[in-house]
Amino acid sequence: MSNHMFDAIRDAADPGTTFIETLDGRVWTYGDMLAFSGRLAATLEKLSVEPGDRVAVQVEKSPEALMLYLACLRAGAVYLPLNTGYTTAELDYFIGDAAPRLIVSTPAAADGIRAIAAKHGARVETLDDKGGGTLLQRARGEGAHFGDAPRGPDDLAAILYTSGTTGRSKGAMLTHDNLLSNALTLRDYWRFTETDRLIHALPIFHTHGLFVASNVILLSGASMHFLPKFDADEVLRLMPKATALMGVPTFYVRLLQHAGLNREAASGMRLFVSGSAPLLAETHKRFRERTGHAILERYGMTETNMNTSNPYDGERVAGTVGFPLPGVSLRITDPETGSPLGTEETGMIEVKGPNVFKGYWRMPEKTEAEFRPDGYFITGDLGKIDADGYVHIVGRGKDLVISGGYNIYPKEVETEIDLLTGVVESAVIGVPHPDFGEGVTAIVVRKPEAGIDENTVLGGLKDRLARYKQPKRVIFVDDLPRNTMGKMQKNVLRETYKSLYGNG
Ligand code: ATP
Ligand code: MG
Repeated sequence: MSNHMFDAIRDAADPGTTFIETLDGRVWTYGDMLAFSGRLAATLEKLSVEPGDRVAVQVEKSPEALMLYLACLRAGAVYLPLNTGYTTAELDYFIGDAAPRLIVSTPAAADGIRAIAAKHGARVETLDDKGGGTLLQRARGEGAHFGDAPRGPDDLAAILYTSGTTGRSKGAMLTHDNLLSNALTLRDYWRFTETDRLIHALPIFHTHGLFVASNVILLSGASMHFLPKFDADEVLRLMPKATALMGVPTFYVRLLQHAGLNREAASGMRLFVSGSAPLLAETHKRFRERTGHAILERYGMTETNMNTSNPYDGERVAGTVGFPLPGVSLRITDPETGSPLGTEETGMIEVKGPNVFKGYWRMPEKTEAEFRPDGYFITGDLGKIDADGYVHIVGRGKDLVISGGYNIYPKEVETEIDLLTGVVESAVIGVPHPDFGEGVTAIVVRKPEAGIDENTVLGGLKDRLARYKQPKRVIFVDDLPRNTMGKMQKNVLRETYKSLYGNG
């Protein structure tokens, strides 16, 4: 038996071609990647990591960190990246839940992690972004030729925890084939070849930067510029040398704030992709005006990899996430009854295909509850398919506001508020209300000079939204809370304003 994912990576690798270039000028060729991931895989084996064992990794982004992901594939271990922002209490939960054989952390964090590791019987090794740490020292003493552990399509390749936007993060179990089939589909759909050079400014602990970006590049034999984090100056500086950027909507908002963004700066680029959170139609429009490029928006999740994409050649429609990818079946169902809905009807998005995960780690009941008997996964996202076949995300099922017995989709109200003069952006949430169950509540960021207040906003919405959809209160804030992936944290807002209408 072969190693399903790594064999494909090896087949695409031309040893002389550049794989990663860092900001400080370090270059890793595909040959370096093959040799070093082998040395690291041998090291894992010496540390008694066996096929199926979890290896938890909480380190800063670096080529070495990505090599560790590849080493896990080769050793047959299950790669388990952890958000670098997790606190000790969060780490304790994730380590306890995942029960890894080995934890890899930065030298600075290792001491704090040792106590947690000891409690859960895991070993700790270190890795840092300057090419140091015990794991790298050990790896340098190993030979470069490693015999990969045999892994079939259904074997686990990784467990990725979801972002925790709607509740506690869940571990999504992803197989070798989940990763491989989706990355090959994206490579072909987005036309990646070995001549591409991607600006990689995403974290690599999340599905977006790890699987969408890195796997697509690996399977194309292409190159990437690795940025430790997004920085508009650096991205603009790299653009003349690059062909593609994958980002979250915040990247594009920041680039638009930069005076250096224009047609010339982007003339060598062939593709700008956005995902992980909704891209405002306004951002899409302004980016097109400034650069001539229509951002390609796509929709995915930790559990399913990518589900949909706007077309490469056809029209990339702002405010939509495009069509289901080849091999992915997508349907909209009635959230209560589960029966299929028609064109333009809003309901639950369900997906099925080789991209869909194997289940939630150690949560068999939750896994069963989220799959239909015919194999469709219930995403938790609400959406619709329009007459042209484009998928629209309407919001999260959990964000639906039920006020006075009516269902209100926050996005519809947010869209109307955002159109009002003087509004930068808004978030609409349901807050416990003694009369209505939930009160529609708008949290708004306004332009400082605009001089708008609660009455202006409410007045502006009067003729545009049915009465039951109109906010009961409008609250102004300087910023809306977002996590590192640019996702709006409505749970934080709901917690902050939970007593707005009294204590229930
Ligand atoms: P949790 O499941 O723990 O609450 P999460 O759903 O935010 O967190 P991820 O798997 O990182 O964790 O994110 C997937 C979600 O991101 C999707 O279910 C969807 O709600 C949202 N999303 C992804 N791409 C888009 C997009 N283009 N437009 C709107 N929403 C998107
Ligand atoms: Mg989710």
